[in-house]
Order: sequence, then structure tokens, then C-alpha cells
Amino acid sequence: MNETTLTSQEREKNRELKQKLQANIEDALQVLLPFFAIHQKQALQFRKPSYVISSTENATNTLDYCRERGSYNFETAEFTFNPTTIENIATIGEETAHYIHGEINPLWKDKPKTKEEYFKTANLVELIGRYGALVYTQEKKQKVEPINWYDVVTDGSGLEVGQTHYEGYTRAEKIFKEQGAKLLPKIARMSFEESRNELPKIAPIHFYEPRLYSGLQRMIKKII
Ligand SMILES: [Zn+2]
Repeated sequence: MNETTLTSQEREKNRELKQKLQANIEDALQVLLPFFAIHQKQALQFRKPSYVISSTENATNTLDYCRERGSYNFETAEFTFNPTTIENIATIGEETAHYIHGEINPLWKDKPKTKEEYFKTANLVELIGRYGALVYTQEKKQKVEPINWYDVVTDGSGLEVGQTHYEGYTRAEKIFKEQGAKLLPKIARMSFEESRNELPKIAPIHFYEPRLYSGLQRMIKKII
């Protein structure tokens, strides 16, 4: 929404929506901080986020649509939501988890050098986003909507959403189902390299991951 073209009534409405969004993010922050093992004092050092209300009207594909629904920008610490998603508990939980994660472990600071590194970093970031959404939704006694991956990836740029989100979301769901919230502090502090070694062991999502890992270990032992 371009602020300058709004009538005073629309501007007032926009201000109200922003306040509502801020209140909802702050609520999620209070709930999620202890799950990330972060003290209030430490959270005072975090950057102060800003809030933007958008509309999905300009979204031309899935990627735009996801961004317009609810997103967090790690560089600018800006939350962008549209009026229909401000009250969506899972989206609020996910974007707030991204914010917390970015403050304690800014993984995007080292720009990925390869496409593989980019997708792996995105998957680690999205794992924490989804993990936060699952924890927050449970605390709010609500249910998370399952993702229809087929619909996501069959729409053009949706493939990128699939590649950046699928692995992370799938691991998060598996971890939360099997171990609840307890691994959140550890995984949220993992480096890119650690996540690469640890996640296939903690939460294998393909049947070959654990075998591949033990096979590699055997090979390494032989070499050493
Ligand atoms: Zn996300």
C-alpha cells in the first residue's frame, strides 16, 4: 500500500492494522523467547522491528503471494503482513521465530556462495520458522494448517518456495512430533556447517539419510 495515495480514513485503518500486527508479534515474542532459551534482558539488545501492511492484489505468483501474506526481512528487520493474515497464529509464530533467529544467529550475513549453500541456508532458516510456528500454535491451543506442497511447487516460481521451505518444514514437523520444543535452542544456534552434519542425524527426512551417514562414517574410518 502506497501511503501517499491513501485517504485519511484509509490511513487511519492502516495505522490500526499496523498496531494490531505489532501487538500480535510482541505477544508471540513473549511466548517464544523462553523456548529459544533467551532472557528478556538479552532480547532488549535486539533491533527494533518495523511493520508494513501490504495487499496480495499485486502478487503474480506463489512466491510473491507468500511474501505478501506474511514475511520478515532479515536485513531491515521489517515485518510485512496483509490485513487477512495479521491474526493468523501460525504465520505470526513463524515470522516472529525468523526475527528471533536472525537476531541470535544471523545466518544470511555470510552471503551464500553457491546455489546449494543458498538453499541449505534457506532450509535451516525455514526449519526454525516452522518450528516456531508449531510451538506458538500449540501454546495458543490452535492447529497448524498442513502445507499442500503439490500446489506450491506446481506454480512456476513456486518451485523456489518448495526448494527453500520443503526440507526445513519437513524436518521441523518431524522434530516437533518426536521431541516437542526441546531442540529449538540448539538448532537455532547451529551454524550452516553444523546443520549440514547434524540435521540428517537428528531428523532424517529421506530413508537414505541415516544410511548415507553411517556409510560415510565407515568410509572415513577406513581412510583414517
Ligand atoms: Zn518462513
